[in-house]
Amino acid sequence: MADYKLLINGELRASSDGDTFPTYNPATGELIADVPKATREDAVAAIQAARNAFDNGTWSTTTAEERSAKLTAIADLIDANADELSQIEARDGGGTIRKAMLADIPGGSGAFRWFAQMAATQPEKVDLSGGPFPASRNYVRYEPLGVCTGIIPWNFPFIMASWKIAPALAAGNTSVLKPASYTSLSILRLAELIAEADLLPPGVLNVISGPGGTVGEELAVNAMVDKTAFTGSTEVGRRIMQLASGSVKPVTLELGGKSANIVLDDADLDQAAAAVLWGTFLHNGQVCESGTRALVQASIYDEFVSMLVDKAGKLVIGDQMDFGTDLGPLVDRSQAETVARYVALGRDEVGEPLIGGSKPEGLADGLLADNFYRPTIFSNVPNSAKIAQEEIFGPVLCVIPFSDDAEAVAIANDSIYGLGGGVQSSNLDRAEAVAAGMRTGTVWINDYHMISPERPFGGYKQSGIGRELGTQGFRAYQQVKHVHVNEETSGRDNHLQYSVLSGSI
Ligand code: NDP
Repeated sequence: MADYKLLINGELRASSDGDTFPTYNPATGELIADVPKATREDAVAAIQAARNAFDNGTWSTTTAEERSAKLTAIADLIDANADELSQIEARDGGGTIRKAMLADIPGGSGAFRWFAQMAATQPEKVDLSGGPFPASRNYVRYEPLGVCTGIIPWNFPFIMASWKIAPALAAGNTSVLKPASYTSLSILRLAELIAEADLLPPGVLNVISGPGGTVGEELAVNAMVDKTAFTGSTEVGRRIMQLASGSVKPVTLELGGKSANIVLDDADLDQAAAAVLWGTFLHNGQVCESGTRALVQASIYDEFVSMLVDKAGKLVIGDQMDFGTDLGPLVDRSQAETVARYVALGRDEVGEPLIGGSKPEGLADGLLADNFYRPTIFSNVPNSAKIAQEEIFGPVLCVIPFSDDAEAVAIANDSIYGLGGGVQSSNLDRAEAVAAGMRTGTVWINDYHMISPERPFGGYKQSGIGRELGTQGFRAYQQVKHVHVNEETSGRDNHLQYSVLSGSI
């Protein structure tokens, strides 16, 4: 079994009390590793190391070009170790090896490359023209915030970690990251690779695995921290806001979702069905912006739903380490049980699902059927049903009929969330008008899940605060300082503004 360590102040080490917790392959129950269980003292030590590294300027005073080169080197390191990192990611979290190799690990290195480019190309100083005051020059300087902490969920650990670390470091901050307890391994391994390659000065990047209730809380509450970026459930997001408020630190929150994928009656039905399937069942629906409500126009409803059921029935469930598998296990038995609870609720609310509604049968020997769940589709779901309002975070699709575009928009917006969404249509003007009405952070037209580092991502309403990625996601890791320079260094008659205080200065 591989040995994993915390990264604190440039040192790879065990937790301060030597404690660990086990992590398992959810498909088989095999013990994969004993993960170091950081204590609250370890969290404080990591924050202190990041504070020192920021305050002594070893990172914050490097040039943007130097930081850009280091982030590019991290991206290269990820790519060079992509096979190993993909294996770790898939085995630890239950996502398919195909997803890990094609999306998770390249997605991580892509984020480092994008933010390397941001560091190199975004101006650190921007002149301001105009303004009422005489003989002055004005500009804004973009400066690092300081110590930035990141707390991430278990569904996309490698990408989520990259989205927190890369922009923070690109902007000259130092970073402390806590992965989710279910899925700590890929980011601990990346931390180890970075430390072994001696890519960053001590304390610039710290990675600590451990419980959210202690380690996570410390990262949000500690007054030495200048920003906390959190991805996870809305419930814990609220707690992060409370904890951060003590020292008035900014937060970025990427929270839950119950996104609508709207299928208009002029859509290419085959393409739209593929988009709905992909938008719902990718990674078993354990994706925050999944389109778990498919809103389908009444005139095409029956034909479209039967296409969905047909396609869903062809998804291959099995060992996530097999390249031919479409859907692996849920992250853990408790997540599979949550899905089963919601499906039971759905049966009460709307009746029998058209497909799924149970764990799979006939899995290969050694696979734990209780940790898997079949893709499940409920039809004619009222949007007020709990299964249409609450985030299930599993392979469950609610199909909801609508009559016209205005009703589709109203149903889509009838949610406490606003993270993702889709519109499937052959009429782009119509689709864009529908997209404009949707109160959500991203809309994909004739597509779904098209997330990339170049484009901002985040939520409306209770799906979160702030944006990650894009130029917005880079600027979110900077302070804005306005500098006013009176170029008349002496001898000037005092100007009008001073007379606001006194007529005789
Ligand atoms: P949680 O909110 O339970 O946990 C997320 C992270 O927060 C984990 O690292 C967890 O640690 C930590 N944590 C838990 N309690 C606290 C606390 N009191 N203080 C500080 N940190 C804490 O979410 P899940 O990991 O269960 O992920 C699923 C949820 O995340 C879904 O609701 C999903 O919608 C959302 N999500 C949102 C995304 C987005 O971009 N908007 C992306 C991905 C997921 P530990 O693991 O040790 O408990």
